[in-house]
Amino acid sequence: MAFDASPPADCQACARLARFREANRAAYPQWRNAPVESFGERDARLLVVGLAPGLRGANRTGRPFTGDYAGDLLYATLLDCGFARGAYQRRADDGLRLCDCAIVNVVRCVPPENKPTPAEIAACRPYLAGALGALPRLQAILALGRIAHDSVLRALGLRPARFAFAHGARHDFEGVGIVMFDSYHCSRYNTNTGVLTVPMFRAVVAAVSAHLATKPTRG
Ligand code: SF4
Repeated sequence: MAFDASPPADCQACARLARFREANRAAYPQWRNAPVESFGERDARLLVVGLAPGLRGANRTGRPFTGDYAGDLLYATLLDCGFARGAYQRRADDGLRLCDCAIVNVVRCVPPENKPTPAEIAACRPYLAGALGALPRLQAILALGRIAHDSVLRALGLRPARFAFAHGARHDFEGVGIVMFDSYHCSRYNTNTGVLTVPMFRAVVAAVSAHLATKPTRG
């Protein structure tokens, strides 16, 4: 399932998140409550980068974006745009396959209230850099939210000040051979408040698909 090197299950780099994992293990022993691995294959050309596992989503099921509203919207859109195959059923063993696509979070452990600190984002960045380096055919990144956008830039050694986050923006990284597309995060909060609509999100994923269609396919 994972296409890159995963953090140790008992990673202690973020003391606050490690304590939160332990508390959740005690409260919900049947949940994963550990760093959530990446999802996808090493030959993917698209990497979707999210923020962090949701408490009752990926932290429960063990697969990125699986089990909560954000996953409902993300996987429905990936299926619609040809980046996934099968049926998404809100569980890690539903048999859903990603096509030319992989998914990872900036922060691998669930943060309280979905809010990782800057220090936690920085502590987990080596794993994000590892994910980026583990995809030899990577050509496009879909950054879900400003934190994902900034952390990808830092992981690639690029200055965030050079590339402003904006929903629907496209950033060409000269010399890197990768294009990054920005979207507001597909969270329930953003859709409930009207920051992001389903058509807005689909339009960005469709733009990614159109971009990759202009590139050589996998050999
Ligand atoms: S968020 Fe990343 S660096 Fe921090 S404890 Fe979890 S796996 Fe380790």
